[in-house]
Amino acid sequence: ILGVSKGFDFFYFVQQWPGSYCDSDKSSCCYPTTGKPAADFSIHGLWPNYRNGSYPQNCDPNNPFNESETSDLISSMRRNWPSLSCPSSSGESFWSHEWEKHGTCSESLLDQHSYFQTALTLRQQTNVLQSLKSAGIIPDGGSYSLANIKDAIKNGTGYTPWIECNEDSSGNSQLNQVYLCVDSSGSNLIECPVFPKGKCGSEIEFPTF
Ligand code: 5GP
Ligand code: 5GP
Ligand code: 5GP
Repeated sequence: ILGVSKGFDFFYFVQQWPGSYCDSDKSSCCYPTTGKPAADFSIHGLWPNYRNGSYPQNCDPNNPFNESETSDLISSMRRNWPSLSCPSSSGESFWSHEWEKHGTCSESLLDQHSYFQTALTLRQQTNVLQSLKSAGIIPDGGSYSLANIKDAIKNGTGYTPWIECNEDSSGNSQLNQVYLCVDSSGSNLIECPVFPKGKCGSEIEFPTF
């Protein structure tokens, strides 16, 4: 017996490209009340996961999102974790959804403040856009090879990412989200124990935003 179970094995740290959220279905993208976000990757979530690919969710209905616990982080959350769904919001409903669905499943290790702080720190530690730009991969609406995108992020972060694609309104496969894996303390990037599923083309679009 090695102690109390923490209930999950690792985290996916998932970042979204706002251009791909918005050009897939323009009618369902709304800029935050605080204005158009930066043209940069932003946080989608920090998701507890099992090594077998499954994951826990909605682990504690008695621990709802409470913005007052993260009041010192709100300005950074607005910049780094904006919500692009409609109607326009300043992000509370997205953060609340992410905390209640995913964050409550790591609450024995990270309380609300630590959970949001950990995600923001990971965002600062992994500058995916800079990694891509260093390899000449820029959000210009052009097409880039999936393998080159993965190599660029691996060179920048030290770890192999998983790329999730969606389609633009013309049906082209494009770079939607970047998954990196983090140990269960939230402190260290690790190689992913298991990758998500889903298809990209071998050449994918990197849309403007
Ligand atoms: P989708 O079906 O769009 O890929 O995912 C819908 C939602 O399911 C995500 O926003 C996330 O909350 C959850 N989800 C999807 N795939 C995974 C996964 O591999 N691990 C975890 N922890 N959650 C996931
Ligand atoms: P998931 O369950 O996939 O972790 O989170 C997706 C949920 O958050 C959906 O209900 C979606 O409408 C909402 N949401 C709010 N803002 C955003 C955003 O900027 N990006 C994504 N992917 N989902 C958002
Ligand atoms: P391989 O292991 O040979 O790199 O890839 C095996 C299959 O997985 C290929 O169809 C390849 O396109 C796909 N694949 C590899 N990496 C990724 C990724 O990061 N995202 C997605 N969606 N597919 C990938």
